[in-house]
Amino acid sequence: MKIGVPKEIKNHEYRVGLTPPSVAELVQAGHEVVVETNAGAGIDFDDSAYEAVGATILPDAKSVFAAAEMIVKVKEPQASEIAMLESRHLLFTYLHLAADKPQAEGLMKSGATCIAYETVTAHGGGLPLLKPMSEVAGRMSVQVGAHYLEKFQGGRGVLLGGVPGVAPAKVAILGGGVSGINAAQMAVGMRADVTIYDLNMARLAELDMFFSNQIKTAYASKAAIAAAVKNAHLVIGAVLVPGAAAPKLVTREMLKTMKRGSVLVDIAIDQGGCFETSHATTHDDPVFEVEGVIHYCVANMPGAVARTSAFALNNATLPFALKLANQGAEAAMKADPHLAAGLNVYKGKIAFKAVADDLGLPY
Ligand code: NAD
Repeated sequence: MKIGVPKEIKNHEYRVGLTPPSVAELVQAGHEVVVETNAGAGIDFDDSAYEAVGATILPDAKSVFAAAEMIVKVKEPQASEIAMLESRHLLFTYLHLAADKPQAEGLMKSGATCIAYETVTAHGGGLPLLKPMSEVAGRMSVQVGAHYLEKFQGGRGVLLGGVPGVAPAKVAILGGGVSGINAAQMAVGMRADVTIYDLNMARLAELDMFFSNQIKTAYASKAAIAAAVKNAHLVIGAVLVPGAAAPKLVTREMLKTMKRGSVLVDIAIDQGGCFETSHATTHDDPVFEVEGVIHYCVANMPGAVARTSAFALNNATLPFALKLANQGAEAAMKADPHLAAGLNVYKGKIAFKAVADDLGLPY
């Protein structure tokens, strides 16, 4: 199969769909890979690194889309990329369609087969292609939260771990899944006072076992969340309802009860955000303030640590990219129901029920 890797064009996105080691695997399996010039330059994969493993470098995205059958990307296609997609294309990337109707309609119109990383499933549950980026975002959320709690960043002037004689900051993590547990690991490492809130009692039990007395867990009732945000210095929004818009767990009214200069990090912003007052921000201008509370709502957090993220993402996507390339999309999905779960747009229609329901589009 002919596989194309365009350069990512979203603001401050330096990750790349295929790293040179991944390209090497695809080439060894008998496939042809074309890469847009400078696609990996931002994270020190220059064109020669791709050429060395057998890729062909093309001058622009247009030639990559024209040459390739399968397009492997990182972020959802932007308008100019959607315009280059045709029904003969297989698109393999993050889509996050539930909060993005124009993109969904654009992809339907293209006729392309679109497999979304974020809804591919795994044996034993879980979302294996979301997992590495959730690990990165979870770990980063505490790093950025600690940063914005500093006085000169507009924060309350609180050190997460406290010091002997001064209590540590309170960190409330809403959602104890992949990003939540990774956030908790960092926050515990920094000696913060950590509580994880979730609706899944089995998950709370696992977290309780995993962390022992290093954290507290709580059922995520409305009352518990209201009390949590009132007392917290840092609130991390890490919930997910797969394929659907994030539930709004923290209302503006709750926000008014929070301490001035406390910080919200809404990891779930790529699914619309779990705080009522959130709106997506970028690495250029990552924070804004509402009711004296700093909001960090960057929709592509892993882009900030793009080199780590590109390797982590490729570790997870490569086995699926190989299956798609070796067998073709239809046969690969037939053979692997977990890969088939990634199908979001097919032959001009939304092929994922929760997305169709959220957007009010036919399924
Ligand atoms: P996950 O499925 O591993 O965990 C989500 C958890 O939320 C689950 O334990 C679930 O039980 C819990 N949950 C669901 N509804 C809840 C509710 N109403 N109250 C409390 N808990 C609830 O998901 P994840 O991989 O950790 O991803 C979380 C979010 O982060 C997703 O929206 C994902 O797309 C997003 N994400 C964002 C970035 C970014 O850069 N901003 C990067 C990676 C992932």
